Amino acid sequence: MKIYINGKLVDKSSAKISVFDHGLLYGDGVFEGIRSYGGSIFKLDEHLKRLFDSAKAIRLNIPMDEDGLKDAIIKTLKQNGLKDAYIRLVVTRGAGDLGLDPRKCRKPSVIIITDNIALYPKEFYVNGLEIVIANTRRNPKRALDPQLKSLNYLNNILGKIEAIKKGVEEAVMLNCDGYVAECTGVNIFIVKDNTVITPNKDSGALNGITQLAVMSLARDDGMAVKERLIKPADLYSADECFLTGTAAEIIPVYKIDGRPIGSGTAGEKTLRLLKGFREMTKTGGVRY
Ligand code: PMP
Repeated sequence: MKIYINGKLVDKSSAKISVFDHGLLYGDGVFEGIRSYGGSIFKLDEHLKRLFDSAKAIRLNIPMDEDGLKDAIIKTLKQNGLKDAYIRLVVTRGAGDLGLDPRKCRKPSVIIITDNIALYPKEFYVNGLEIVIANTRRNPKRALDPQLKSLNYLNNILGKIEAIKKGVEEAVMLNCDGYVAECTGVNIFIVKDNTVITPNKDSGALNGITQLAVMSLARDDGMAVKERLIKPADLYSADECFLTGTAAEIIPVYKIDGRPIGSGTAGEKTLRLLKGFREMTKTGGVRY
């Protein structure tokens, strides 16, 4: 397996960066998780746009343009002979000294890791997933905006640790006002009376690319779509609940904090959206 680091494709065993890289020392950098299906990269332009937006927000100048990054991703995928892949695109602040000062980091590092996609267990999609609400609140926008996909995931990891401690795989994170924001690495939706609802932009979640795709699928399917504030009580009384993300696609939720959601099984509308989403991944991507 070859890894792309700063213009070179190197063996996995020799793919190394400096211990002075501020990506390592401070989580100072940005990233994207992208997926390819059957030799076609899904929503690549959207992922690159989000990467550049995140970089701009932390005043990090990516030393390549969008086309350059596209070419580098395709070159890496081809080199590794991958058709169905998970692509991790990382841009760090680069090597500096032991202080925080980003001006000491003269050259950002661009890293592309491609691998076979690690699929979630099939039963998650058939029976659904049990989740809990974490005590750890999602970072407030005014401290570290969750719309910025940075390398600093400690907030999410604390939520994930709570999930694991309670014997489940995912946790809902509330914002500091007590409204639902998202899960630790996926967005969240509920379905109530033929309306598909997801937290609005002010709720403090990452603007998910899968989330946006699912909203348009739901509209095409004749469902109403709303972005609004969601309270924990709305989760418990939902007809259906599901999670979305690049790697996860759409995962039904059957239980939250030990309470069955709807019929206590994977929701019918959720499964219909999953079917539609999988169809969507077959068209419109960037072929290589
Ligand atoms: N929220 C967080 C915190 C994430 O890290 C991710 C991506 N893994 C998502 C939501 C889902 O976003 P996307 O659909 O763009 O992968």
